[in-house]
Amino acid sequence: MTRPVVLITGGSRGIGAAVAQLAAQRGYDVAIGYRSDRDAAERVADACRAAGASSVVCQGDTARAEDVVRIFDEAQAALGPLSHVVNNAGITGRSGRLDRAEDDTVRACIEVNVLGALWVAREAARRLSTRHGGRGGSIVNVSSVASRLGSGGEYVWYAASKGAVDALTVGLAHELAADGVRVNAVSPGITRTEIHEKSTGDAARVERLSANIPLKRPGEPEEIAEAILFLMSDAASYITGANIPVSGGR
Ligand code: NAP
Repeated sequence: MTRPVVLITGGSRGIGAAVAQLAAQRGYDVAIGYRSDRDAAERVADACRAAGASSVVCQGDTARAEDVVRIFDEAQAALGPLSHVVNNAGITGRSGRLDRAEDDTVRACIEVNVLGALWVAREAARRLSTRHGGRGGSIVNVSSVASRLGSGGEYVWYAASKGAVDALTVGLAHELAADGVRVNAVSPGITRTEIHEKSTGDAARVERLSANIPLKRPGEPEEIAEAILFLMSDAASYITGANIPVSGGR
């Protein structure tokens, strides 16, 4: 039987790395996208191989359409036709009020989280859909509960970017439904990854915010990965256009 093949953008760390390793354990071959840290991506690929998967790392900036095409080309050249894509790469930029935000902070976030998500989704549609000779499959976009909470005082531009991901998920689900491709999203809440220290410089942010989470603790990347793997799987065969919050009730 042909093994499913998944490409995960932003697979070198955090949620993407957890998805890669869980996918390998569940029988997928795994392409790991990353932008800057090749060693980190290679460590994730080694873990996938140790779980019995074929794995390759693919460098590229998802905000650049030409890089995205190359990432998909390299993944398919190494592992064969893709069946699943996890559209995960994302950034927040330095946190703060919008009236104090630098142009570059806002622009970079929109370029990666909105344009990048669109380029990855477009390429996934081209490769997976039966309309274009693909074998069908599914796409999971990684949004955030920020799109509903708004992230006032922290990064409203990031919340706005994830609102775009939510809309993309619904629209593309409708567009690809007849082409054998399901499109869904997960919306993590506060999850223990490096993104928080990068955005705030505060390593304790995740623990500090725990009091505001109904389950009184941050999520672990592996808990987000479980929801993503469910949406990728045949157990979710009648689910498209859905967006699952994985946020401890926040
Ligand atoms: P993370 O630990 O900072 O990891 C981000 C990953 O994305 C890294 O692999 C990074 O690769 C990659 N990346 C960033 N910009 C990229 C670009 N332009 N092109 C290609 N790759 C790029 O972040 P995370 O917390 O796992 O977040 C993953 C996703 O979950 C993001 O979409 C984020 O918005 C979403 N999310 C996270 C949380 C949370 O609390 N952690 C909550 C809600 C939503 P390099 O290191 O090589 O650059």
